[in-house]
Amino acid sequence: MAESVRRLLGKPGAVDLRPYTKLLSAIEDREADLRELDDSELTEAAIELGNAELPYERDDLVSLCAVGREAARRALDERPFDVQLLGVMSLLDGHVAEMATGEGKTLAGALAAAGFALRGRRVHLVSVNDYLAKRDAEWMRPLYDLLGVTVGWINEDSTPAERREAYTCDVTYAAVTELGFDVLRDRMVTDVDDRVVPPPSIAIVDEADSVLVDEARVPLVLAGAAESQVGDVEMADIVRHLRPRLHYTVDAEGRNVQLTDDGIDAVEKALGGVDLYSEDDTSILPQVNLALHAHALLQRDVHYVVRDGEVRLINESRGRIALLQRWPDGLQAAVEAKEKVEVSETGEVLDSITVQSLILRYPKRAGMTGTAMAVAEQLREFYELEVAVIPSNKPNVREDHGTRLYATREEKEDALVAKVAEIHETGRPILIGTQDVAESELLAGRLTEAGLECVVLNAKNDADEASIIAEAGTHGAVTVSTQMAGRGTDIRLGGSDMADRDRVVEAGGLFVVGYGRYPSSRLDGQLRGRAGRQGDPGDSLFFVSMDDDLIVNNAPESTGYTTSADGEITDEGWLAMVDHAQRVAEGQLLEVHRNTWRYNQLIDVQRDVVLEHREMVLTGDQGDRHVAADRAERHAELVEELDEERVARAARLITLFHLDRGWTDHNAFLAELREGIYLRYLGRRDPLDEFNREAVPVFKGFLDGARRRAAESFDELEVVDGELDVSTVGVKRPSMTWTYMVHDQPFSSALETFVGRLKGSPSRS
Ligand code: ADP
Ligand code: MG
Repeated sequence: MAESVRRLLGKPGAVDLRPYTKLLSAIEDREADLRELDDSELTEAAIELGNAELPYERDDLVSLCAVGREAARRALDERPFDVQLLGVMSLLDGHVAEMATGEGKTLAGALAAAGFALRGRRVHLVSVNDYLAKRDAEWMRPLYDLLGVTVGWINEDSTPAERREAYTCDVTYAAVTELGFDVLRDRMVTDVDDRVVPPPSIAIVDEADSVLVDEARVPLVLAGAAESQVGDVEMADIVRHLRPRLHYTVDAEGRNVQLTDDGIDAVEKALGGVDLYSEDDTSILPQVNLALHAHALLQRDVHYVVRDGEVRLINESRGRIALLQRWPDGLQAAVEAKEKVEVSETGEVLDSITVQSLILRYPKRAGMTGTAMAVAEQLREFYELEVAVIPSNKPNVREDHGTRLYATREEKEDALVAKVAEIHETGRPILIGTQDVAESELLAGRLTEAGLECVVLNAKNDADEASIIAEAGTHGAVTVSTQMAGRGTDIRLGGSDMADRDRVVEAGGLFVVGYGRYPSSRLDGQLRGRAGRQGDPGDSLFFVSMDDDLIVNNAPESTGYTTSADGEITDEGWLAMVDHAQRVAEGQLLEVHRNTWRYNQLIDVQRDVVLEHREMVLTGDQGDRHVAADRAERHAELVEELDEERVARAARLITLFHLDRGWTDHNAFLAELREGIYLRYLGRRDPLDEFNREAVPVFKGFLDGARRRAAESFDELEVVDGELDVSTVGVKRPSMTWTYMVHDQPFSSALETFVGRLKGSPSRS
């Protein structure tokens, strides 16, 4: 047994690896024989594994790993390491395999996917973005071919036909967003054949912590075209002149803004003496709030960029621009007014699904990531997943230095730039991680001033992200990157130039610098993990200042420290405070996650009721039967005049329309309810209880209401030129739909933060 395997056998709280490690020698014993087989015999050996059911018994598991290893050696010229096979076995058991960056998770994931596929399961390999979905599917294709497993991928611009085709493959690679959007679109079809996604079976989630934890609470939204909403330019101009603190206040998290009494007076005056709180006209206050939100909380280049005359959201967790993403309508319009750009197409939310609900649809789930233990509790609580900590193939020799703390941002930057200059002298490549686009650009400016040339990797050039990051390990390279931009792409020392590698290794490998600690230690770990892969030398060092948001927002009174001449704070107590602030931030994020989960649970229960009913209408004769029962006479007349089939089809379309319309309206009601409760019950009662108290009874009449409206529409239905045209009774589908991910859910996140705080502080009962 390899020493590296023995090292970490008994990690507390993690899956016991012994049952897997025990098999490693048996797997190796099979190797010589398998080499004797020709390719088609090897494929045969793989296919034979399909003669039994999941789970794999010991001998079959040994065969799978041995055949998989030989196939990878032939197809990819990479013989899977023992530790990768441990990863494969953990994935097959439905665990999250923690494997460091560069350990070869793509290959491990592919072998596990093939293992499931050979036993007749359909596998979705969930990626963090389109680029990786396509790259990994194509990269692993020769391996799948040799194992007799079909593979496909989906990208944002895939057509419905291409999607359907990809989903028929044994293994389908797709970004979590695309999977979610397909599920949402499928829920709106009026013809069974229009659906693209097969019933969920197995999900293997790459970068599992990003997807399952960081993005879990992010709703994926399907919207339909409606009347365009125009932002109030006058309002935007009025709030532009308001002064922070005097006219409005922003909460510590920057998620909520409120007018002060002075602010209310100023706005009322600017609007020509209106009463913002008048009962007669309740339309003004929401407009003021939207404009204020756009003005005070959403910063250009942090939350969005303006490109080609359009406002585009930045995906905050990755600092990348996402296509087709927008805020809820009013807010999008308000930001457009603020930036004085043209009004974009708007719509209404037809339905949404959180990443968490999406993944929980799969009866069996597994995942892989470099950083899982730190969120082990959440993976267990929200997904019933256990973490298997897979040791690295070679010992990690990266040196992680202690955080350097400075009094001011200025001093921190000076120290950082000096350090970068010093390291750069030695020729070592340097990767600097920042939190957002604005920070990247500021820092890049400072580096350039200091004569240090650097490449900036952020949302503004995301198309080139992968190729840039791939070269970040070359001699003398300085790369500034937003949080986790270019994830999933390897930073090889020396880049694509193998000759350069020795020089870079000699110099000490990649030096990773953090421009501030992230809101969780796990994110720090992801940045660190960029260096020291596969036993490479490397270093990591974080710089923090007392001005950093993390400290300002999460540390209690922070004065009274002493600094050295350059502003550094070296006192242990203050350094411990940095860790403390990070833990507070982590706790807050967890509470937010929990609360979204609680809200969505109720919504999901209601949605499932609707979907179950919808399925019976779509695939059966439920709609027709109801209409025939409720409007027997008219139904009989129409059947007489036309035929059963055409009447049944009209009944189905009408019923589906009223179900979907009803659900869209109910969704809007729930969204408003959440917001309203937040305002009404501020600090007095548990908003979640209130939400349930109101949402449950309203839903009681949902199905009956939809049925009644369907009957009414059916009443009005007339035969025109021997056909039933349902559009004459108002049955219209949105002319177009689009999808987006609500990364910064403005209103509800204010609510979530509020709920989080309420729950988090026992003193407020
Ligand atoms: P991860 O996703 O774990 O960060 P990747 O799957 O991107 O890592 O793989 C990192 C690099 O390691 C890739 O260049 C890949 O080709 C290489 N690699 C993976 N497995 C092996 C192996 N068994 N032998 C040699 N190279 C490997
Ligand atoms: Mg990867």
